Amino acid sequence: MDNIQMVDLKNQYLKIENEIDVAIKEVITNSSFINGPSVKKFQSELEHYLNVEHVIPCANGTDALQASLMSLNLTPGDEIITSTFTFISTAEVISLLKLKPVFVDVSMNNFNLVPEEIEKAIGPRTKAIIPVHLYGQCAPMEQIMKIAEMNNLFVIEDTAQALGADYIFSNGSSKKAGTIGTIGTTSFFPSKNLGCYGDGGAIFTNDSVLAEKIKMICNHGSKRKYNHEIVGMNSRLDSIQAAILSIKLKKLSEYSSARYDAAHIYSSHLKDLDWLEIPHEEDYSNHVYHQYTIKVLNGRRDELRDYLNALQIPSAVYYPKSLHKQIAFSNTQNGCFPNSNDLESKVLSLPMHTELDKDSILHIVNSIKSFK
Ligand SMILES: *Cc1c(COP(=O)(O)O)cnc(C)c1O
Repeated sequence: MDNIQMVDLKNQYLKIENEIDVAIKEVITNSSFINGPSVKKFQSELEHYLNVEHVIPCANGTDALQASLMSLNLTPGDEIITSTFTFISTAEVISLLKLKPVFVDVSMNNFNLVPEEIEKAIGPRTKAIIPVHLYGQCAPMEQIMKIAEMNNLFVIEDTAQALGADYIFSNGSSKKAGTIGTIGTTSFFPSKNLGCYGDGGAIFTNDSVLAEKIKMICNHGSKRKYNHEIVGMNSRLDSIQAAILSIKLKKLSEYSSARYDAAHIYSSHLKDLDWLEIPHEEDYSNHVYHQYTIKVLNGRRDELRDYLNALQIPSAVYYPKSLHKQIAFSNTQNGCFPNSNDLESKVLSLPMHTELDKDSILHIVNSIKSFK
């Protein structure tokens, strides 16, 4: 058993070393570092995988959110409803564009936006909802889409943690996470379920007009070189990252299964401990376990964390401080967020990656069981 890591990208690489090295070498040999053929190739492979009309690759997941919002013709002061219990990117780009983040509380079960809370937060200036599919499981999209349709709102799905997850609708049909709303976004940050070896991101949509506009936004607001129709940004996925992602996309289903299997070994051993709660799986989404996150119910989360740490078992708290408590958003409205406030002191994410073997998981669960 190797040292247990939160994420093990090195051993994952070693299994595809040859293929990756050849692909990187090819980009360097061709020297088409920016917008080379590998970018177009990966783009169409991802379109096929997600069954979506348009994928627009970009530089990272935060840019993907920013470019998406920029495409929607919003006016400063317009309100965007999003989760308070997540990484900062969503709220950050909303504020950066002089829009107003309206935070909504999350479910204690699935850590995602609660539809009833979204409805309460809708006002005359609300223009969009940004659900974040946290830890690898979808937000309740069927209900969110209904609310959006009734109130004429855009929906941008932040799929940075759930790429590859399927959403199953009540009529039995299914769609890939990120392809249900108006626009979907993702990140290829190395530790994500589909990660590259640097920064990367992408935007998905079935709307051809929006796709054109987003493409233009990511390219300095330009369709034809040196003709700038709008103020855009410079956000590209580079050719080396695209070549790596093509190889890893072929493995994504296998990677998701490995995560799922690891999660189920954890859960089968932890489910009977009365002082913690294992992740809850919703019927409407298969869980791709970006994180395996337990809730520590006895008020001793930080003690458990220190205890595991002393045994050289890493763990992490995503997220220790909800966005409504961040100084950066102190001039945003203050709602009521009992669940997020509670989760901050309860959640603990255990090591989760594609190379996690059964022995390591058993060592982790036995260590947790020995915590007194
Ligand atoms: C990682 C992540 C992002 C940001 O992605 P970057 O590529 O680092 O910009 C956005 N949202 C969520 C939910 C994430 O997990």
